[in-house]
Amino acid sequence: SDDLAGLVADRVGDRAAGWDIAGELPRDLLAELGGLGVLCAQVGVEHGGAGLDSRANGELTAAVGELCGSLRSVMTSQGMAAWAVRRLGTAEQREHFLRRLTSGELAAVGFSEPGAGSDLAAMTTTITDGGSGELVVSGRKVWVTAAHYADLLVVFGGYRGGTTAVVVPADTPGVRVERVPHPSGCRAAGHAGLVLDHVRVPADHMLGGVGLSFPLVVTAALTYGRMSVAWGCVGILRACLAAAVEHTGRREQFGTPLAGHQLVGRLLAELYVGEQIATRACEHASASWDEGAPEVAIDAVQAKYVASREAAAGASRAVQLLASAAASDGHVVARAYRDAKLMEIIEGTTEICQLLLAEHVRGRAG
Ligand code: FAD
Repeated sequence: SDDLAGLVADRVGDRAAGWDIAGELPRDLLAELGGLGVLCAQVGVEHGGAGLDSRANGELTAAVGELCGSLRSVMTSQGMAAWAVRRLGTAEQREHFLRRLTSGELAAVGFSEPGAGSDLAAMTTTITDGGSGELVVSGRKVWVTAAHYADLLVVFGGYRGGTTAVVVPADTPGVRVERVPHPSGCRAAGHAGLVLDHVRVPADHMLGGVGLSFPLVVTAALTYGRMSVAWGCVGILRACLAAAVEHTGRREQFGTPLAGHQLVGRLLAELYVGEQIATRACEHASASWDEGAPEVAIDAVQAKYVASREAAAGASRAVQLLASAAASDGHVVARAYRDAKLMEIIEGTTEICQLLLAEHVRGRAG
């Protein structure tokens, strides 16, 4: 993963601030990184992927997150789509779609709807049999990360009394992609709403088939997404820590470097400990993933919960430490501050994570 991280650092260079301000990532870069398997690096080499384990992919995700929150967001979506295919798809679907996802095509994943945010079971998107070997998908999705760039949309909806997911090529008639105007963070991640108006796709684009329960279908993709967001938050914390250490070591006020003031030192210590706590929570969850432990789903919730809270708090401390130096758009710490807060919202808000953790601990006590 170090080689891949070096390659991404080389390609990103100092361009992340400009992408954030413009609200756009270069498509040729996304296609190149996608074609190298970087965006969904846990896909196996047999499907054209990098074949990293969760820990190595986590470190890669943190490295990308340290450089650019928008690119890391696209990586999360691509990895989530790939994981949904791997968990829910047949061998043929895995060979077909994973190959496409490691050949430069991009994917986004749509769960959320206008009336189904935290309560995903309230989804109203329908998937029905359309005859002649086709399915018909109708509904609306909101805030789908990377949908602006995506060739393939993994759409979740109701099918024959259960829940399933379908892969919808973004250029299918009846698909409308409407960009979220001016998102407050991860501004170049291509968030968009989807309008799906009687969209017809081949029946073999359905992942998972009939009769799967809602939690099983949704948790498969969400667990990957939570791991990815959590590691991305470690990257945010590392970017903030590096900027804060550099700035407070260099700038002098009252005749001494800022870091020499004890109250400044306290903020640096808190920021460092936040990065360490987030890293340990992610390492723990990735170890569960790589061991195939049954606790992986709740460990991913815990990692996402811990790392996003630490990232939001840490980025706020970094803004305080840099003060006016971090008070303009595009600055790495200003971006971190805006991006980190959104990490407390996605893949299950902080409160939804708390409910899941409480349910877990009560189950253990019983
Ligand atoms: P709501 O569900 O309306 O929640 C509002 C507040 O109420 C929150 O604080 C919440 O914690 C709280 N709340 C709700 N229910 C409870 C409860 N039972 N107990 C206690 N508190 C509660 N969706 C996708 O499908 N795909 C994506 O790629 C994607 N990317 C996103 C990227 C960004 C940057 C953002 C901001 C959102 C993205 N989303 C995506 C949507 C995201 O998953 C939802 O925003 C999230 O699930 C929360 O839903 P909501 O915004 O409707 O908030």
